[in-house]
Amino acid sequence: MLVEIRKAKFTDEVQVPVLGQGTWRMGEDPTQRKAEVEALRLGIDLGMTLIDTAEMYADAESVVGEAIAGRRDDVFLVSKVLPENASRQGCIHACERSLGKLGTDCIDLYLLHWESPYPLEETLSAFVALREAGKIKEYGVSNFDTRMIESALALDNGERIASNQMLYNLMRRGPESHLIPSCRKAKVLVMAYSPLEQARMKMGTVINEIAQRHAASPAQIAIAWTLRTEGVIVIPKASKPEHIRENADVSRIRLDERDLKELDRAYPRQSDALEYL
Ligand code: NAP
Repeated sequence: MLVEIRKAKFTDEVQVPVLGQGTWRMGEDPTQRKAEVEALRLGIDLGMTLIDTAEMYADAESVVGEAIAGRRDDVFLVSKVLPENASRQGCIHACERSLGKLGTDCIDLYLLHWESPYPLEETLSAFVALREAGKIKEYGVSNFDTRMIESALALDNGERIASNQMLYNLMRRGPESHLIPSCRKAKVLVMAYSPLEQARMKMGTVINEIAQRHAASPAQIAIAWTLRTEGVIVIPKASKPEHIRENADVSRIRLDERDLKELDRAYPRQSDALEYL
């Protein structure tokens, strides 16, 4: 039975589901388009109404646009500007292109995909202009480590940074020691990407045994693990309907102390550093 997906506080007015949907590798193969649109729609039906995309992801934004046509209000849309487009004018044009592909007049959360060659103040001023024009609701960053997010928050308009999207999974535990606590303290929503290490997560005996105890799959346990900290949400990408169903069903899984201890031993934290995929 489907358990309603828990929500996390995003702003004072807005909550987002802790389980969203990624879209990297969508929109690359036109023969897969119909299946990708249907996958996203199924995910929305099951409550995974936060959809993460980016101008970088081939034609994924237009796949998302097709999936959300007629139900824009049900969805919380995240997209990203490429660093090379993050000048003031470049960012505004990139956002307008994304809006066109997404078939909407407003993106809920617009992120700088990773550190850009332009001064961050300039990108932030473009975000503010987009916000004032009603083209985005909130803005944030991605792939920022502790030092970068702390200095970003101190800039003009930096205090409005609403989210930092980062690589975080059982095999990439660097953000746990400083970055996640620092984001939570500043009320910056942490969005964990590649929770399954792009289908390359090592699934050994331990995670298989925990999965059996929860009548779940190892992938579900890996995704549930990222959600054990309040203020963290996760955006697995899936195109197969059975994967979408499993991911939405993660909501019912509550890992207990024994599970977490066993996972700690099987996937030890090795470094503080933020990694990238
Ligand atoms: P991921 O979510 O870790 O892995 C996706 C892969 O896992 C796909 O091959 C998918 O298969 C498979 N999968 C999904 N659910 C499954 C399940 N329940 N059981 C078994 N396999 C399952 O990797 P990701 O796509 O890199 O990360 C998720 C999203 O984060 C991206 O799509 C993107 O939106 C975002 N992201 C952001 C950045 C950034 O720099 N900000 C970087 C990377 C990713 P099928 O597709 O065949 O179902």
